[in-house]
Amino acid sequence: MDDYKRLRDMMVDYQLIPRGIKDERVLAAMRKVPRHLFVPDFIRHSAYDDMALPIGDDQTISQPYMVAVMTELLELRGDEKVLEIGTGSGYQAAVLAELAREVYTVERISTLADGARRRLTELGYENVYVIVSDGTKGLEDKAPFDRIIVTAAAPKIPEPLINQLKDGGIIVAPVGERFSQILIKGKKEKGILIEEYHTPCVFVPLVGEYGWKG
Ligand code: SAH
Repeated sequence: MDDYKRLRDMMVDYQLIPRGIKDERVLAAMRKVPRHLFVPDFIRHSAYDDMALPIGDDQTISQPYMVAVMTELLELRGDEKVLEIGTGSGYQAAVLAELAREVYTVERISTLADGARRRLTELGYENVYVIVSDGTKGLEDKAPFDRIIVTAAAPKIPEPLINQLKDGGIIVAPVGERFSQILIKGKKEKGILIEEYHTPCVFVPLVGEYGWKG
């Protein structure tokens, strides 16, 4: 077994399962996706550590546990059309691509989007589409979505995202102050978002028309 596979299994066994991640499909996806190929070379050895890591342009790839929690909250069964806001490295998108039918992922910084697209193509993901745009406006021409995940934090969930979520659909997003947020899971029922509050978290800012201003 290669060393990275061993580290990946340890990540699942010591960081995810003991903290309560139960969805077997999520655990299997996280045992499979090569996270070390989504971080810069100079920190590759830290790819499976219990922390967020820098990916350039002042952005970060989320801690493995946070990726697992958010993915589990989405309750993916395999046939969903998913929208991700904040492509970053493309790692979360790869995990989603393992678990859903198709993934549209939006990134505002084109160099990050280019890197993510290249990695995802090299790894053979054919059901992920990387788009450069202000994700706070959603992705009108591909809406509606079964699931939406926001991997950058805003003062509130951008209204266009709620509009572009199907009835019965789920959105997961960190919401709050600039340097501390709470993870929200919202389920849209009869046009209204019913919210649950989950774990405290710290994400980079969601910058755009319906997020933080530059
Ligand atoms: N999901 C990523 C980590 C995301 S970090 C991963 O798995 O690596 C948050 C990302 O959100 C950053 O890349 C940042 O540039 C992006 N972002 C911030 N505001 C955005 C916006 N309005 N639209 C799209 N992406 C945005």
